[in-house]
Amino acid sequence: MADFYKKLKQETQNAKQPVVIESSEGAYLVVAGQKKLNFCSSHYLGFAVDARIKKAAKDAIDEYGIGTGYRTIAGTNVLNVELEDRLAKFKKAEGAIVVAGGYLANMAAIQTILGKEDVVISDELNHASIIDAIRLAQIKNRFIYKHRDTVDLEEKLKEASTIVKEDGSKPLILIVTDGVFSMDGDLAPLPEIIKLAKKYGALTMVDDAHGEGVLGNGGRGIVDHFGLHGQVDIEVGTLSKAFSVMGGFITGKKPLIDFYKQKARQFMFSSALSIPDTAALIEGVKILEESDAPVKKLWENTKYLKEKFSKLGFDIGNSETPITPIILGDEDITLKFSQRLLEEGVFASAIRFPLVPKGKARIRVIPSAAHSRGDLDLAIAAFEKIGKELSVI
Ligand SMILES: *Cc1c(COP(=O)(O)O)cnc(C)c1O
Repeated sequence: MADFYKKLKQETQNAKQPVVIESSEGAYLVVAGQKKLNFCSSHYLGFAVDARIKKAAKDAIDEYGIGTGYRTIAGTNVLNVELEDRLAKFKKAEGAIVVAGGYLANMAAIQTILGKEDVVISDELNHASIIDAIRLAQIKNRFIYKHRDTVDLEEKLKEASTIVKEDGSKPLILIVTDGVFSMDGDLAPLPEIIKLAKKYGALTMVDDAHGEGVLGNGGRGIVDHFGLHGQVDIEVGTLSKAFSVMGGFITGKKPLIDFYKQKARQFMFSSALSIPDTAALIEGVKILEESDAPVKKLWENTKYLKEKFSKLGFDIGNSETPITPIILGDEDITLKFSQRLLEEGVFASAIRFPLVPKGKARIRVIPSAAHSRGDLDLAIAAFEKIGKELSVI
């Protein structure tokens, strides 16, 4: 066994350790005792430090305590039910089911309804949790289409339509895509995908992790952004990004959601979100229902930042969302850039291979509604200084 542990040690000895954060995660955070601008988190709306949300979580603890349990066996807390009802309404869907994470929601979404002989057609840049979900479902007929390429998608659909199951029946065909692609901030061509799905009788699924609280009216997500309510069969969301808590959910038509609640292993064999998590999430949905101000602020900040970065001469890619890649290309320069940023008081990590292709290394910047204009100016000044220092602008 000594060899086994030795091998594990060897394989991880050069691994980069995550930065340890010693404070809450608002516009600023504390690293190694020093205050830094928080410039790469997915807490888009500043909800991780929102006073109303914090109070809701504390009040709920006083009333209901902390823990819940297996909902199907030990009973389901009224707050867990309320969260699902509110999420369904917020997303203008017939029903919602909440599980412990977005990763698990993707597992549940695919594994519960597709069998080995069914077909999945997936964008090549889809999130790891979608890839794992397809593997877990043991689906043999997997097609990967070129990123956002609907011509290639149609080719795959044509091929998929010829597949027949052993018993002679037609398999289900599921097209699955991220809504917002997390490394580049580009959007799935959802209207075209839905047209193709209708033409070929396929189901559609979108993982809206980075669209929730960001895109659409009041942060209702990518389906709302494109005005496609009721047309995407399976919408997956996460509650850990803009909602700043944890958990994942699926929205869709009532028969589908009821089916998941009866059959999804990720729901049946994993406990519900805790009381403070759930209460915080309910309050977050309420805030977005009441006002689109946080979402508007996020987009104002995004626009300002992108204009400034472009003017300075940085390559900021083709993002259509607050995700702002500062593409530097070279792996070492990108790492150096990120280290220098931290020294200048800005926390924005370097994203390198294998997260992005070789030669496409970048600093991925994400502004939030918690940033003031002054905060953004501070960051822009640091980027300008270091950009010149390292001769990338
Ligand atoms: C973050 C993310 C997930 C995972 O969500 P968790 O709630 O953190 O498990 C799934 N899909 C996409 C596209 C994501 O960006």
